[in-house]
Formats: sequence, structure tokens, C-alpha cells
Amino acid sequence: ATPAALMVGVGKGAEAGILIRGAEHLERAVRLTTVVFDKTGTLTKGEPVVTDVVLLPDTGNRPSLTEADVLRLAAAAEANSEHPLAAAIVRRAEMSGTAPPVASSFEAIPGCGVCVHVDGCEVLLGNRRLMADRGVAVSDHAEATMLRLEEDGKTAMLLAVDCQLAAVIAVADTVKDNARDAVAELRRDGIAVVMLTGDNERTAFAIARQLGIDRVIAGVVPQDKAREIQRLRDTGEVVAMVGDGINAAPALATADIGVAIGSGSDVAKETGGLVLIRDDV
Ligand code: ADP
Ligand code: MG
Repeated sequence: ATPAALMVGVGKGAEAGILIRGAEHLERAVRLTTVVFDKTGTLTKGEPVVTDVVLLPDTGNRPSLTEADVLRLAAAAEANSEHPLAAAIVRRAEMSGTAPPVASSFEAIPGCGVCVHVDGCEVLLGNRRLMADRGVAVSDHAEATMLRLEEDGKTAMLLAVDCQLAAVIAVADTVKDNARDAVAELRRDGIAVVMLTGDNERTAFAIARQLGIDRVIAGVVPQDKAREIQRLRDTGEVVAMVGDGINAAPALATADIGVAIGSGSDVAKETGGLVLIRDDV
């Protein structure tokens, strides 16, 4: 009777907007103990909005930058990035009516940020790790500004021009409407829920709190997400990983069950054993 039952299950899944790419995924799902969610674009809408542009006091001989300068450079830096944070910055610059200059080089550093050359300057935009890697000093004032923004659940990014910090740019994303219910329902079924993110711990915990999630693995670069999944499996947990991004594919492949979001990247959808057709966890 098993093949018939699996076929009915796959059909029922399709009715509920869940594409099940092979009955083995359904069979494994019975033993599930833990569901790990990617944060950005999976639990949150992935449509972040710029909320704060904080100019940092000058430390060197560079002329002071205005908010408009900062937005122009930031938009130039992000023009070629596919990250949701990039889209927020580009939109904000468009709104303020400033046309960003075109960068002469572009480098994306996954899980960290971007580095471009524009207007004869080197512009870095990203997190603390990016600044540490490139030898940019982060002042106490900049650090305190970031902490304050992160406590509010915002993602704070640092902008440096020629290795000098110029501004902190904060971006906020909202959680998906049904995400809180999904988490509550899983927990009622005795399944542990974990948030996995490249974002920093404070921002991640502030968002997790809104969703009723108490286990957070933060500050994980995309290359290491698969390793975190494997670590959970090694402790005997049977793990589903839910994600959307291009970078999520290795983690989806490592999990016992990979669940891709239908609105996400093609790579994720190719890798996931289950695909949620609607953008609804
Ligand atoms: P998530 O796990 O939430 O999808 P990522 O791993 O993509 O996050 O990114 C982790 C962090 O790296 C971001 O929170 C941000 O601080 C920084 N970052 C990544 N890409 C960019 C970018 N294009 N511009 C600025 N910052 C970025
Ligand atoms: Mg992501």
C-alpha cells in the first residue's frame, strides 16, 4: 500500500501548495525533529527599507560627507549586488532623487558586503567582519550606533570611503504575516525551531523574539550554513532546512529535508526536496 499512500500524499501536498519532488522526502519528514529557517527572505519579507543614515564624525583629512553623498556612494556600491539589502539602499537613493555614479569595479563578498571603486575612491559597505578583513578601524562611537540600531532589530551596515568610516546605514525588514503561526504550530507538534542567519546576534534575536523563536544561530557566513546543519544532524536531530537564497542551496542539500521557497532563487528550488509554491512558510 505504500506507493499508493505516497502518491496520495504528493497529491495532497500539491493541493496545499507544496511541491514534493520525490516520495523519499515525504518518508523522511515523518522522523523530523528540528526545522531550521533562514532569516532574510524566508521568515522576513526580504523587502528591507532604509530607516537610518547616521553620519560619523570625521577622523582624517577627508572632507565631510553629507547624507546625500553617503546615499550616492552606497547606491553606487550596491548597484550590481543581488542582495535584498542592496535593493533597499538603491531604492532609497532613487527616492531622494540622486543619480548614483557608476562604479568602475565591483566585488561582492558573500555574508560580508561589497567593495567597489567609484569617483576615484574605494568604497566598502557591509558588516563588522568586512571592515575587520579590510583593516578599517571601527570607532567606539560607530560601534555604539550600531548596537543601538541592532537592539531594535535593524540590520546596521558600515560605509567606509578609502578605509575611513563615513556612516552607519540601517535597514529594517518585517516578518512575514504567517511566520509566527508557522513557528507556533511546529512547536505544538514537538518540533524544535531554529533561526540560522548571517546577520549579527542582536538583530537576529530581536527578530526571533517577534516570531517566538528562542534558538538562534547568528553570524554564520553562507559557506558555513551547511556545516551548522550537519552539526545538528550529528547530534541525532532529523533536520529540515527552509531557505530561499542562492546561498542557501548547500544547506538545503545537507539537511535531511531541504525546503525551498517558491519565490526564491532557482538554485534553491533545484536543490530543495520540497518547494513551497506560495511565499508562505
Ligand atoms: P542572511 O543570512 O540574513 O541572508 P547574509 O549571509 O546574506 O544574511 O549577509 C550577512 C550580513 O552581511 C548582512 O546582514 C550584512 O550585514 C552583510 N552583507 C551581505 N551582503 C551585503 C551587501 N550587498 N551590502 C551590505 N551588506 C551586506
Ligand atoms: Mg539570505
